[in-house]
Amino acid sequence: MYDLIKKEASSCGFAEVFFLKPLRLDAWHTRAAHLGVGASLRFDVPAAYPGASCILLLVYAYAPFPAGERLSAYYLASQRGYLASQALVKALCASGIPCEIAAVPARALALANGVGVAGKNGLLRIGAFGSRFALYTLATSACMPRIEVPATASCPAQCDACMRACPMGAITPEGIDAAHCMRYFMDGAEYPFSVYQAQSTHMGCEVCQAVCPQNAQLAKRIPEEAEQAAFALPRLIAGDAAAARSLVGRNLTGNGKLTAEAICFAARAGLHEAEIRTALMASPFPAVKRAAAWALEQYFIKK
Ligand code: SF4
Ligand code: SF4
Repeated sequence: MYDLIKKEASSCGFAEVFFLKPLRLDAWHTRAAHLGVGASLRFDVPAAYPGASCILLLVYAYAPFPAGERLSAYYLASQRGYLASQALVKALCASGIPCEIAAVPARALALANGVGVAGKNGLLRIGAFGSRFALYTLATSACMPRIEVPATASCPAQCDACMRACPMGAITPEGIDAAHCMRYFMDGAEYPFSVYQAQSTHMGCEVCQAVCPQNAQLAKRIPEEAEQAAFALPRLIAGDAAAARSLVGRNLTGNGKLTAEAICFAARAGLHEAEIRTALMASPFPAVKRAAAWALEQYFIKK
């Protein structure tokens, strides 16, 4: 059974599967409620999936882009992993292994099962994958938990690479201060201006992962031509985000989110003023108008 699940998962593109206990995650829930995040996730896993004897944790590993790349390797992989998880559910069910997508806090459940370690940057690292993966969870009644914990190094006490690199000052020797990490402010289409000013990657921030020595062994890849073309700044600023959204997922990128980001990236580089002015006038999205007005004021009118 375990081998069959792993084989099907591998065929769908997953690098690893862990067979976790469906635990109740009260500590995660308390912290998430305090931060106002994760409302759609089910912290009481046994209650949410009463028939499930095991939660399959699927690891979709990816090769990061070189530091400084504006495209997010994570979100490109995350969309592929999402489609792969749907394909895997179909394949397993067709093989007589009942399962369903489980909306549970994957990182917290992994840690509660002893899989991986949390870095000072708050991110989960798992063995040879470092922190470069997207996680998916399936609930199943077909098998029991079987914990095989991969060796994962904790953060060296003296390491402060992520603390020094974080553009928001969100990492302390005690760990991440989520109230300052920009990732927590980037769910909708409109971000605080401090995020537009510091953001270096579309849709998120990967700075603390790029400098982490625990990720240094991972092979990198260069964005493909189609990926670069989809995220070309003039194209996004003109409101043509369809190709980019199909690559990173439409659910996360509505209401002009990518166009607003592109405007701020371009303005910070002193580029595309005329196109930004056009976006200010023509875009139907408040997020785009707001970003364009701010970017013009900050980077063109004041200069
Ligand atoms: S994701 Fe970015 S803002 Fe958040 S802790 Fe890492 S470097 Fe800082
Ligand atoms: S950069 Fe150093 S301190 Fe930060 S997460 Fe990586 S190993 Fe830990």
